[in-house]
Amino acid sequence: MTEARIIDGKAIAESLRARVAAKTAWLKSNHGLTPGLAVVLVGEDPASQVYVRNKGLATEAAGMRSFTHRLPATATEAELLAVIAQLNADPAVNGFLVQMPLPKQINPDRVIAAVDPAKDVDGFHLLNVGRLASGVGGGLVPCTPRGCVILAKSALGNDLSGCNAVVIGRSNIVGKPVAHLLLAENCTVTVSHSRTRDLTSVVRQGDLIVAAVGRARMVKGDWIKPGATVIDVGINRIEENGKSRLVGDVDFESARAVAGAITPVPGGVGPMTIACLIENALTACATQNRITLPTD
Ligand code: NAD
Repeated sequence: MTEARIIDGKAIAESLRARVAAKTAWLKSNHGLTPGLAVVLVGEDPASQVYVRNKGLATEAAGMRSFTHRLPATATEAELLAVIAQLNADPAVNGFLVQMPLPKQINPDRVIAAVDPAKDVDGFHLLNVGRLASGVGGGLVPCTPRGCVILAKSALGNDLSGCNAVVIGRSNIVGKPVAHLLLAENCTVTVSHSRTRDLTSVVRQGDLIVAAVGRARMVKGDWIKPGATVIDVGINRIEENGKSRLVGDVDFESARAVAGAITPVPGGVGPMTIACLIENALTACATQNRITLPTD
């Protein structure tokens, strides 16, 4: 049995970032525009601080303007909504996101609803969710799900048409939007979740498996159809042999003996999220200025 091909998310994300940087330079030289991307961070969650710093670095590396707004963990919802109103009105900011999770005194749904859909680079506003789900299109698409589809296409010759795709997880952040994107790619999509009966048999039907659960190494090699493509979204920190390490929702060692292609954790889906975020900032800037970007 040959081992699965490793899908190099880091390299694919770098190539996407380079294309975004080239189009950003084109936008500057042809239209005098520099896209601006802002991130709002409430509180001091250590993981969020790392994400926010990395997002800022990637934004600048692409030639865009990066802004960070920090609020204390004690900030009220009204204070956060005031920052959002300011960003909605700021012409230098083409896109922004509010880093989740938020402190418990703030309702995330009200926060997402307050973001101008045209600047919603996370793709979480109901208008963007509806555009994706209805197939109308033209909205901003969530970054991690888009990254998953790019990786799946890279492994499957760019064509997912007719593929039996099994998504594990139904969150609004990953599971549901990735299911809609796969449907738009003409896959036959099954969305499984914590109440799915006989999950193992369901997963075994998949030519393409997207695991977004948040349970370390849950999907074992014997759940996977031989030759299937496996996209592992999970990021789980575990203690092993006295060391802390990150693992996915898929048991990589047993899965790679069966799968045709598989994403590693880290170095798979993770790097794609930020690459797709800066791509969304570029798209938002072009759309707001009614400019058609050059194709790749
Ligand atoms: P979530 O907790 O919101 O959703 C988890 C989903 O898994 C739920 O829909 C639930 O029904 C399902 N589930 C839970 N237990 C299950 C079980 N035993 N069997 C089948 N389904 C089960 O999580 P999320 O936000 O969708 O994130 C999922 C994972 O992806 C997490 O590990 C998270 O850290 C990771 N993640 C990674 C990125 C990235 O950039 N790579 C981005 C977002 C999330």
